[in-house]
Amino acid sequence: MTSKDHTILADDDGPAAEVIHPRGTAPMCLVCEHASAFIPAKLMDLGVAPEHRHSHAAWDIGGRALAVALSEKLDAPLVASRVSRLVYDCNRPPSAPDAVPPRSEVVDVPGNQNLSDAARAARVAEVYEPFRTLLKTTLDSFKTPPILVTIHSFTPIWFGQPREVELGLLHDSDDRLARAMMSKRPDGLDARLNAPYSVTDGVTHTLREHAIPRGLQNVMIEVRNDLISDANGVARFADILSTMLTSALATQEAT
Ligand SMILES: [Zn+2]
Repeated sequence: MTSKDHTILADDDGPAAEVIHPRGTAPMCLVCEHASAFIPAKLMDLGVAPEHRHSHAAWDIGGRALAVALSEKLDAPLVASRVSRLVYDCNRPPSAPDAVPPRSEVVDVPGNQNLSDAARAARVAEVYEPFRTLLKTTLDSFKTPPILVTIHSFTPIWFGQPREVELGLLHDSDDRLARAMMSKRPDGLDARLNAPYSVTDGVTHTLREHAIPRGLQNVMIEVRNDLISDANGVARFADILSTMLTSALATQEAT
């Protein structure tokens, strides 16, 4: 696409999505839909107050760092968005009202309110479709069918309520990998199935769109973001999750 085709991204903004560690050899594709808080200059911060532009409303705090660490540890490609979910939430289909959220928890997003059809279509065309296509072509490039693992983080306090859960393993109609990982959770970690969200919250779009039609085993991982807010926390969870994943897969192979 040339810059003439773009109404959101400028040429020097770079692409809407990227593949990190593209030559990873594990039969595993990692995904981070909420990896970036970047709002292209043309959108003038969407009118979001400065204190919220790098909050969990804009991205998954620690999510990209954890996904990159896992990608290196597991030798697996990672497909990551390079644009804030306030611009377009790549884990939502274009038909979802919250794909372009007018409000996120307690954060108003004035630039998403009363959006014209054309402006909304531009978000889909310039953010969602490139991400979707890159994930599709990355999955197509595997020689053997990979598992698909999406990496997310969640805020410890949601609408004023503290959340105790530390690790959530979410599934859609295929629960094989989520349950296998649950059986490998370490002692002392508050890990739960389908928490703090579940399929009924509409959060399993990537799994539905890319894994289930291909019959790929899949899981959505949610880590409480205060646990991965620094390098030590990221390294700890990269260890925990890579061990859970590899031992869950080894168990399945053995049966
Ligand atoms: Zn997320």
